[in-house]
Amino acid sequence: MIDRYSRQKQFKPIGDAGQKKISEKHVLMVGCGALGSANAEMLVRAGIGKLTIIDRDYVEYSNLQRQTLFTEQDCLDQIPKAVAAKNRLHAINSMVKIDAYVMDATSESLFPLLDNVDLIMDATDNFDIRLTLNDLTHKSNIPLIMGSCVGSMGMSYTILPNETPCLQCLLDITPAMNATCDSVGIISPAVQMVAAHQTTEALKLFVEDTEALRTKLVTFDLWNNQYHMINVARAKKDTCPTCGNEPSYPHLNYEFQTKSEVLCGRNTVQIRSNRAYEIETLAGRLQTVGPVKTNPYLVSVEYKGYRIVFFRDGRALIHGTNSKEIAKTIYYQLVG
Ligand SMILES: [Zn+2]
Repeated sequence: MIDRYSRQKQFKPIGDAGQKKISEKHVLMVGCGALGSANAEMLVRAGIGKLTIIDRDYVEYSNLQRQTLFTEQDCLDQIPKAVAAKNRLHAINSMVKIDAYVMDATSESLFPLLDNVDLIMDATDNFDIRLTLNDLTHKSNIPLIMGSCVGSMGMSYTILPNETPCLQCLLDITPAMNATCDSVGIISPAVQMVAAHQTTEALKLFVEDTEALRTKLVTFDLWNNQYHMINVARAKKDTCPTCGNEPSYPHLNYEFQTKSEVLCGRNTVQIRSNRAYEIETLAGRLQTVGPVKTNPYLVSVEYKGYRIVFFRDGRALIHGTNSKEIAKTIYYQLVG
């Protein structure tokens, strides 16, 4: 019988026993853009048992340079990234169970997805949600592998609840992790490098080779040929609100989250409401105000020089402005 994992099993630290463990693991991928594409593809090819993907966005042309799961057709059809990724990943390895959610990642939406999850993979582009993941990971005692990249730089760090310092503890010593804005651009090798670190740590965790785990925070700048391993072991604080002796998990407070937010570097504002949209009905109504495109997941309309996209879960993206006020005005003109 042809064994698709033969090369991976020949690798001594994995072997047959490790492959069996890998096949039983369930990963929650938070975000499915560049880092999500790269990590998800490697994990699915490696033969994990289950992958749950959550992403709020749909595929655009500016993604294709580095988001390796997507195609031009996905852009033309405005397919949500979670759905496009699921389709592509299923074609790569149909043995892996894949669940896709087109949703904003918030503490509220993520909690129900944590059942039987062995690992949370950070593939977001948003610092606030990283802090939420940091709280979730500690409250639910699930490891979290962080990754971020910008320009030609990247960083990765593995958080083990009750063992390593958490993201909150590291804030003082790693201000670079605050650089979440994509306005300086990014080259795809930086993405692949971060994902290589993340997926490798994931494989070590899956086969329980804990001694091999990196423990240090890794940062690099591929363009400027710089690599650093930062020992952060002493950063853990007893008073930390997330991993300290009396945790309060401040970023799991629902009121902490905003209703509208400017998406950094994208000239886009997201508005979140409590009402779910009936896509078909909305598409019919919007046809009276401008050209409409629709698919089973979203409807978009061109209106007054802006492009407004409504998702089933109650979110709207207003492309063409960085002003929340303008975005809200446009939004209310369309859906009152
Ligand atoms: Zn901490």
